[in-house]
Amino acid sequence: MGYRIGQGFDIHRLVDGEEIVLGGVHIPHNKTFLAHSDGDVLIHAIIDALLGALALGDIGMHYPDFDAQYKNVDSSILLKKTMELIEEKGYKIGNFDSTIKAQSPKLEPHISKIRKNLADLMGIAIDKVSVKAKTMEGLGVIGQNDAIAADVVLLLIKCEDKK
Ligand code: MG
Repeated sequence: MGYRIGQGFDIHRLVDGEEIVLGGVHIPHNKTFLAHSDGDVLIHAIIDALLGALALGDIGMHYPDFDAQYKNVDSSILLKKTMELIEEKGYKIGNFDSTIKAQSPKLEPHISKIRKNLADLMGIAIDKVSVKAKTMEGLGVIGQNDAIAADVVLLLIKCEDKK
């Protein structure tokens, strides 16, 4: 069995602030995430998808939010640690696809930078990294600018040299 599929989701509440972090990219905004870490919902959803693909639990089990060492942590560091775990298990990323759900700010100008940053963090080619953004048409907590969420699906491929 050479392939494993993973799915991840995350949502964080927004409060008044100056910027948000998505995919490790700092984006100016009049709100910020209320979170134990930097609140990067996209990276958190990617980590859950990576762990989920190999049935290794979830982000809360590996990096608990009651653990002081993860307070205000840069989520990029957690993604790198998770990639090391996936590689130790003998897998690499085939591709991944994601959707950020945010009413504002407009994310389209930032998408290419987010894709490049994620490709670098995960050590994969940019054509394997898909990031899409959607508003919620003003509906619900996301539509009212009280939260931003992200969904991720990805494929892991077993490396030939690690049976
Ligand atoms: Mg989170």
